[in-house]
Amino acid sequence: MKLSYDNVKRYIAHINLKKVGSFGQKKIIDTKVLIIGVGGLGSPVALYLASSGINNIGIVDHDKIDISNLHRQILFNEEDVNKFKVDTAEKRLKKINSKIKIKKFKIKINNNNINKIAKGYDLIIDGTDNFKTKLLINDYSYKNKKILICGAISKFDGHVFIFNFKKKNSPCLRCFMPEIPDADMLDCQSEGILSTLAGMVGTIMANEAIREILNFENSICGNILIINAENLLIKKIKLNKNKNCIKKIK
Ligand SMILES: [Zn+2]
Repeated sequence: MKLSYDNVKRYIAHINLKKVGSFGQKKIIDTKVLIIGVGGLGSPVALYLASSGINNIGIVDHDKIDISNLHRQILFNEEDVNKFKVDTAEKRLKKINSKIKIKKFKIKINNNNINKIAKGYDLIIDGTDNFKTKLLINDYSYKNKKILICGAISKFDGHVFIFNFKKKNSPCLRCFMPEIPDADMLDCQSEGILSTLAGMVGTIMANEAIREILNFENSICGNILIINAENLLIKKIKLNKNKNCIKKIK
C-alpha cells in the first residue's frame, strides 16, 4: 500500500532521506509500539515516536502525575497533576497526530497480564523503574521474538539496552543482569536525577527504535549504551550472550 497524500505531506522530511524514503516511512507507520512506563524516559520516547509516524501506540502506566514529576516528564504540565499519566499522555499525543490509535493500560504490568497486554505489538519500549519488571519484560520479549529497547536512569547515569529478538543469537538483559539486584528500585526522586538525562536517554531509545524498525545495517542490537550526563560521555559495550539465560527464561 502506498502512503496517503496527507502522510507524504506530513513526513516529507523523512521521505527525503534516502535511507528512509516512502518505503521506510510506511514501515514506521505500520509498526505497533508498546511503551511500558510513561515517566522520564517514556515521555520523550512517546513524543518522538508519535511525531515520527508510529500510528499504533500502547501505553502502560498505573501512576498519577505528581508535581515533582514535571522536572523531567515532559509529556505533562501543571494542570495535569493528580491525573492518570496514560490519560494525559493520550491527549498530548493526539494533539501531535489526531489519527494515532492509542490503547491505554492503567495497570501495573505483571506475569499474569503481560501476554494479554503486549500481544500484537512489534516493538516494546521499557521505561520502567525497577529490575523485576525489566526482567519480566525481557523474558516476554525474548520468548515472543519482539524488538526490545530498554532504558534505565539514575543520578547522572543512563543505560540503553537494544535487543532485537527477531534476530538469532541476540543477547538479552539477563546476560547483563541474571537475577533481580538487591537494590531493585531506580528511585529517581530520592537518589536524585538530572532532568536532561531523561531526555537524552529517552531520545536515544526512540532513535534506536526507529533504526531497528528501518533495519539499518549498523544496528547496535546486543549492545549497551552507557550515557553519563555529568561529563557528557557515551560508551558502547557489546554484550556477550550467556547460554544459561534460556534456562532461566523458560
Ligand atoms: Zn541473556
